[in-house]
Amino acid sequence: MTAAPLRLGISRCLLGDEVRFDGGHKRDNFLTDVFGRYVEWVPVCPEVEAGLGTPREAMRLVGDPAHPRLLTIKSGQDHTRALEKMTVNRLEELGDLHLSGFVFKRGSPSCGVERVRVYTEQGMPSRSGAGLFARAYVEQFPLIPVEEEGRLSDAPLRENFIERVFCYRRYQDLLENGVTRQRVVEFHTIHKYLLMAHSIQHYQLLGRLVAQPERYRPKELAHQYGDLFMKALTVKATVRKHVNVLQHILGYFKDHLGTQEKAELLGVIGDYHQGLTPLIVPLTLIKHYVHLFDVGYIREQVYLNPHPKELMLRNHV
Ligand code: SF4
Repeated sequence: MTAAPLRLGISRCLLGDEVRFDGGHKRDNFLTDVFGRYVEWVPVCPEVEAGLGTPREAMRLVGDPAHPRLLTIKSGQDHTRALEKMTVNRLEELGDLHLSGFVFKRGSPSCGVERVRVYTEQGMPSRSGAGLFARAYVEQFPLIPVEEEGRLSDAPLRENFIERVFCYRRYQDLLENGVTRQRVVEFHTIHKYLLMAHSIQHYQLLGRLVAQPERYRPKELAHQYGDLFMKALTVKATVRKHVNVLQHILGYFKDHLGTQEKAELLGVIGDYHQGLTPLIVPLTLIKHYVHLFDVGYIREQVYLNPHPKELMLRNHV
């Protein structure tokens, strides 16, 4: 696990700061009190930083969903330019901070990542837009994991986002600590089973990439790898894929197990497959055997410990 704190951007109202148009906030307790123990938050309120003040007239997106304008609802003032100007400056600063992720406020015309209401001049909304700041952020930093706070109440989405954040952080460390071809290969090796839990196809493509490293200079290899690596992690991990990974790992020490122990472990994996237990149950038993039999190759696998166990993310998937 990476020692230095993770640095993530966040829509400032989610931290409990009273920056919303009505002078209120949208404090999210999981983010502040639980995940926050591992994170150095970089708060951003695009509307306040654009000089719009608090409280302020409520706003909405209007016009073409691909290029909407940000208008106040009652008086129709156009704040698009102010938001765009703030965004250009802030994105430059955020680039220097090397964020490992960003949590945005859902539904906001500035911060929502997707399905934000965009109104026609006649007032009919479609849920096809993105907040002006969030859209620009995602375009500027396409590999950095982003999520909306509303989606983080869904256990698999939460687990996936936090897993991607820690993976991205390890990838940043790879880039910052001097990339060599050997280090890219090692990075690929320790992520094998994590990748397989998402997409065997991506795992194989990444394997081909690192198998012919002479085609690229080390930094270019790392960039090609990182692009595909982060895409792989957005492919949904399923119970079936986890079962496949667990069975592969079992193959490394099954000869050490007696008939009864083997049957017990297969039973625990079967229970998980049928939805009777969460992923943490077979994994705990497997980790026990990995340490007991000192299976070095598996012990190094990120799959076993992708994020701090105190977050208990695998107790719910
Ligand atoms: S959603 Fe974004 S713009 Fe709105 S109050 Fe929160 S941080 Fe500020």
